[in-house]
Amino acid sequence: MRPDASAAFSWSWRIAIFAASVAYGTLAAMTVRGLVGGFGIGAAGAAIACAGTMAAMLAVLPMAAIIDVPEALWGHWLPHRRWRSGRCPACAHEGRGGRCPECGTPFERPAPWAADWSSLRRAAWVLVPAGAIGTVAGLAASAADERAFAREVGAMRARDPELMEHARARAWPASFTELRWAAGRGFAGPPPFESPKIPG
Ligand SMILES: [Zn+2]
Repeated sequence: MRPDASAAFSWSWRIAIFAASVAYGTLAAMTVRGLVGGFGIGAAGAAIACAGTMAAMLAVLPMAAIIDVPEALWGHWLPHRRWRSGRCPACAHEGRGGRCPECGTPFERPAPWAADWSSLRRAAWVLVPAGAIGTVAGLAASAADERAFAREVGAMRARDPELMEHARARAWPASFTELRWAAGRGFAGPPPFESPKIPG
């Protein structure tokens, strides 16, 4: 494969991982937002949501070794395959011993591939910005869900002035928690571990 094609694959690969990480961060932030609870978010709640999302990003850091798949393919697997079949590891020109007459690369067994600190650095360069964008997007999506709930309650009260209370699940993936409204008490977003209401 030509170098420009492998560079294009490298970039596409990284962009795909970045997009997946933003999506993961967004869902993590929405989940943490549901766990924190409350209706509307203050500075303290936002700080907890950011910390929780960053912790969730750290959990996938070991998986980030897949970020080096292009390096492993073009930097190691392909040169090794060429060398084994008696060709130059860099340009696939045939020959053995000494240096490649075409590009000057020594005919030596290419070093095996291993994840190292630069893999971790490359992973951090993708995961940290993706986590930050995901956190902002997740908190914005949760806030939009709360505004939608407030509009639903407004529309229901316009139809039925006697309405006393209304509740529904938060948007997925925080649907394990509820948004509530009650006449006289206003809006609330209780956290999931709140003691259950005693009926009666
Ligand atoms: Zn060569």
